[in-house]
Amino acid sequence: MKVLLHTCCGPCASACAPALRSAGHETAAFFSNSNIAPEAEFAKRLDALRTLARADGFEVFADPPRHGDWLEKVARGFEDAPEKGARCERCWRYNLGRAAEFAAENGFDAFTTSLTVSPHKPSARIFEAGEEAAAKAGVRFLREDFKKKDGFKRSLERSRELGLYRQSWCGCEFSRRERPL
Ligand code: SF4
Repeated sequence: MKVLLHTCCGPCASACAPALRSAGHETAAFFSNSNIAPEAEFAKRLDALRTLARADGFEVFADPPRHGDWLEKVARGFEDAPEKGARCERCWRYNLGRAAEFAAENGFDAFTTSLTVSPHKPSARIFEAGEEAAAKAGVRFLREDFKKKDGFKRSLERSRELGLYRQSWCGCEFSRRERPL
């Protein structure tokens, strides 16, 4: 199958892209993360993904960041919600909605997301957001739980080997406030 991998960052994708290939899928990454602020951080994470893509030989599609739109549609009124709370649910829906639309418009059979690699991200709730986005766009969502089979550990090892930048906070300005550098 031709599978679009919604990619939150290079380190997480380093465990997912090989897993999809091992399962026999053709894959490309879709970097759509309007949640990330500031824009320099968005660029840094995209660069890390491009480094991985060169090493692993897959294509990267970058969705231009729309942080203002994200603030308005996702964060407004939820600025103080804790991580994994209501703001995050809305954030996953926003980004996976973009991925579903891109997959449907560009001839992919299905899409999935690297978000499930992280131990900080509850896979069951990510799946719900993915299924919802898929139904709206008319494309299939693959329920890949990439944290299984030591996915997170492998992502750490590969990031170290390839010298990939690994951020220490989730992405938006509100997560940075919760976990200051
Ligand atoms: S903490 Fe992470 S998942 Fe939650 S809203 Fe911010 S960027 Fe999105």
